[in-house]
Amino acid sequence: MEDLSRRNFIRLAGSSLLLLSLNPDEVFAKHNSKLHFKLPPKPLQYYIKEGKEKGGRVLIIGGIHGNEPGAYKAADILMDLDVKKGTVAVLPRTNFVSVLANVRGYNGDMNRKFHRISRKDPDYRYVSFIKDFIDDFRPDVVLSLHDGYGFHIKNKKHWGQCIVIDAVSYKGYPLYSTAKYVADRVNKKITKKHWKIPIHNTDTFNRYTKYKEQRKSLTYYVLSKCNIPAFCIEASKQLPDLETKTKMHLMMIKEFLEIFNVELDPGIDHVLSNLSSFINRKRVYSVRLNINGRTEIINSSKTIKVPAGSRIRFESVYGNRGSFVIPEGVNLNYSGFYYSRNIRFFLKDDYKKVFTLKFVKT
Ligand SMILES: [Zn+2]
Repeated sequence: MEDLSRRNFIRLAGSSLLLLSLNPDEVFAKHNSKLHFKLPPKPLQYYIKEGKEKGGRVLIIGGIHGNEPGAYKAADILMDLDVKKGTVAVLPRTNFVSVLANVRGYNGDMNRKFHRISRKDPDYRYVSFIKDFIDDFRPDVVLSLHDGYGFHIKNKKHWGQCIVIDAVSYKGYPLYSTAKYVADRVNKKITKKHWKIPIHNTDTFNRYTKYKEQRKSLTYYVLSKCNIPAFCIEASKQLPDLETKTKMHLMMIKEFLEIFNVELDPGIDHVLSNLSSFINRKRVYSVRLNINGRTEIINSSKTIKVPAGSRIRFESVYGNRGSFVIPEGVNLNYSGFYYSRNIRFFLKDDYKKVFTLKFVKT
């Protein structure tokens, strides 16, 4: 009997210990020599604007690849324009973590995840969002914006400066002749020979295609699963500056909008003649912090001394649509974490560092 009761006591003590270990205060006590950081969720911005006049429906998707600023800046500029005719939807930074890290795919290539994606993949939320958005919005066309490498006209293996199509035509929709019409109109305004826009047909539906991996891409998904025409607009990473890359995108978007019966206000021509003011908006950047219950607003580089065990919450980030704060040396998918050493955070505006916040543990 005694043995049994002792065993019961041990079991009970064991289970209460287990309960104690699940208590958040106890968990925190284990980390009281560290700093605890919490970041706001990364925004997934979009807009839908409908003009007074009836017209087509165009969806523009930027930032699937994070190191292609011409693509996401062009999409971002469209968010500042009104729509006169038709309806436009824009998702400028669909892969924001990669934009902030300034890499193609922080969690692998997002444009290879439209065929299949695991629920555990950090990109799952974003890829599903794009798919649901297409389902709800039902566009007449989807434009996927990229800055490819090199110049396709000089080297067929390079993807820069071209319009990519998955087939000459799909279910009766003339992808090639539409893309060719756009390219011809744009090429009239491009003087440099190797900047001219050819059509790059990946022939993705053909069983002998050289580009089988394109069957995992957004445009292939849109064509084959949604029965909506889709095009990839490619500027080149090797164009001299961000303004030129953005300009290439906007010139091509302008022609597509015209084909699909959409008018913006002001029009893209107005944007093109004032492009640098659209790209270089002057903003005041700041971060609102909550340090152990005390609010602090920071608007330039600063070193902040905090005692061990501090709880630091980034409540909000002000600036442009591409502004956010990232920790150095920590997985950028995390929204909360403990850290035992001093740490720096960068306030970023897309790929640019604006200022640095350093937390020093005392
Ligand atoms: Zn790309």
